[in-house]
Amino acid sequence: MISMLQAKAFLTDLNTVQKMYIDGEWVASESGGIRNVINPANGEIIGVVTEGNRDDAKKAILAARRAFDKDGWQDSKARDRAALLNKVADALEARAEEFASLDTLNNGKPLRESRYDVADAVNQFRYFAGLCTKPHGTTYDVPDDMQAMVVREPIGVVGQIIPWNYPLVMATQKIAPAIAAGCTVVIKPAEQTPLSLIRLFEIIDEVGFPSGVINLVLGAGETVGAELSESPLVDKVAFTGGTDTGIRIMKAAAETIKKVGLELGGKSPNIVFADADFETAVDYALYAIFANQGEVCSAGSRLLLEETIYERFIVELTARAEEIVVGDGTDEGTEMGPLITEEHMQRVLHYIEEGKKEGATLLCGGNRLTDNGMDKGFFVAPTIFTDTKPDMTIIQEEIFGPVLAIQTFRTEEEAIELANGTRFGLAAAVFTTDVAKAHRVIKKLRAGITWINTYHPTYNEAPWGGYKQSGIGRELGTYGFEEYLEIKQINVNLNVAPS
Ligand code: NAD
Repeated sequence: MISMLQAKAFLTDLNTVQKMYIDGEWVASESGGIRNVINPANGEIIGVVTEGNRDDAKKAILAARRAFDKDGWQDSKARDRAALLNKVADALEARAEEFASLDTLNNGKPLRESRYDVADAVNQFRYFAGLCTKPHGTTYDVPDDMQAMVVREPIGVVGQIIPWNYPLVMATQKIAPAIAAGCTVVIKPAEQTPLSLIRLFEIIDEVGFPSGVINLVLGAGETVGAELSESPLVDKVAFTGGTDTGIRIMKAAAETIKKVGLELGGKSPNIVFADADFETAVDYALYAIFANQGEVCSAGSRLLLEETIYERFIVELTARAEEIVVGDGTDEGTEMGPLITEEHMQRVLHYIEEGKKEGATLLCGGNRLTDNGMDKGFFVAPTIFTDTKPDMTIIQEEIFGPVLAIQTFRTEEEAIELANGTRFGLAAAVFTTDVAKAHRVIKKLRAGITWINTYHPTYNEAPWGGYKQSGIGRELGTYGFEEYLEIKQINVNLNVAPS
C-alpha cells in the first residue's frame, strides 16, 4: 500500500516545466507560456507544464501526417503494432502504483478508483493489440464474374481531445484503438490533468514508436483543441467532454467533413421498482452517483423510485450517504474525493442553490466541506434532493458532481417517460426481480449503456457511447475499433478479356 508521502515522491521531478511530445521529441512551447497543475485536495501546485498553442498543434499534426503518409505507418503490420501496444501495457503495469498515485493527486479521486483505472488502461492496450491481428474484411457474392471484397484501412491522422475526470483511461481508450487500427495520433489532455499522460509518453518514447506516430500537445481547448477540430490535415477528431463543447467541435469539423466521434454528457436515470432486492438497489444507487465524486459522464444522477418503496428507500439511502468518508484521495480510507477545481466546485454549489430555489427538498449534504483541513481543497458533501419536478434544472442539466435528484413514479410507463425526459441518452439502469419487466423497460430506454440490477460496470470488450445529445459513435470493443477504420470496396474482374 502506498502512503501519502510515497505518492508525493513521484512528483519530485515535476518541479521543472514538463514538456510536450511532438515528432518523437520532448519540446517546450515556443509561446514560452506555462500552466500550474493543482492538487484539488489541498490547492497545492503539484506540477508546472508548458502551455502549447495553435502553432504547436500544427507542428504535431504535420508530424502525424508525415508519419502516416510518407514514413510508412499506414502500411505497418498489425503484428508489429500489436507488439508495441503490448510493450506499452507491460511497462504501464510495471509502474501501476505510480500512475494511480498521479491520477489521485491530480484528479482527487480515491486511490482504489485510480488503481482500477490503471488496470483498465493496461487491459485496453492488450485488448486492442489482440484485436488488430484478427481478420476484418468481407467478400461478397455479386452477379458479375467478379471477386468483390471489402477491406478496412486506417482513417489517417486522428486528433483526440479528452476531459479531466479519468485522466489516464480517457487517453488510453482513444490511443490504443487508433494505433491498433494503423492511424497516427495527436492527443490533447484536459488543461487541469496532464500529469499521467505526460508519464505515459515516457513509455511511448521508450518502447520505440516511430517519430510522429503518437504526439502529445498540452494547452487550452480554445487553441490546441480548436486546431485539432479545424485542421484540414486531420481526418478524424475523437472527443470526450461536455455536450456544449461537442457542438462546437462538430461545427468546426463540418468545415472539412472530418469524421467525428463524440462522447458527451449525461443525466442518467436509475430506476428502482418495488420488487427489486432492496439492499442491492440502495448499494448501487449510492455507487451510481457518488463514485468518482459524481464526476462521471454515466453517473446515475437521477434516481427513479416506485412510490410504494419511496419512504423506506430514502431513509436508508440518506443514512448511508451521510456515512461516506470524504477526504484526500491518497488516504486509503477515503471513499469520495474533492471536485476537480474551485471553479467546478462553485458550479456544483450553484446547481445546489438552483435546486433549493426551484423548490426541491434537500435530504442531505448541499454544502462545501471545510473541516480537518478540507477548506484548502474543493470538497462537496454527498447531496440528495427529493420533491423534484421533471422540468427542474437539477433534473435536466448535468451537474457533474455528487448531487443526486430523486423522482418518483407509479407505473412502468411513467418510469419510462421520466427516464427518457432529458436531452441526454448515455446510460440507464433498472432494478427489479421481474426479468420480463426489466427487459421491457430497457427496450424503451433511449440510452447506449444500460444495466439490469447493477450500475457502472463496463468492459473494454463492449461498445461505449450515447444516444441523443450524449454523443455520436462508439468507443471500445470491436465497434470502437471500427471507428478508426475506413471501408474500401475492391472489385476484381475475373474475366479480363471483353465478352
Ligand atoms: P469540456 O468539454 O469542458 O472539456 C473537454 C476537453 O475539451 C478539454 O480537453 C478541453 O480543453 C477541450 N475543449 C474545450 N473547449 C474546446 C473547443 N472549443 N475546441 C476543442 N476542444 C475544446 O469537458 P470537461 O469539463 O473537461 O469534462 C466534463 C464533461 O465531459 C462532462 O460533460 C462529462 O459528461 C463529459 N464526459 C463524457 C464521457 C463519455 O464517455 N460520454 C466521459 C467522460 C466525460
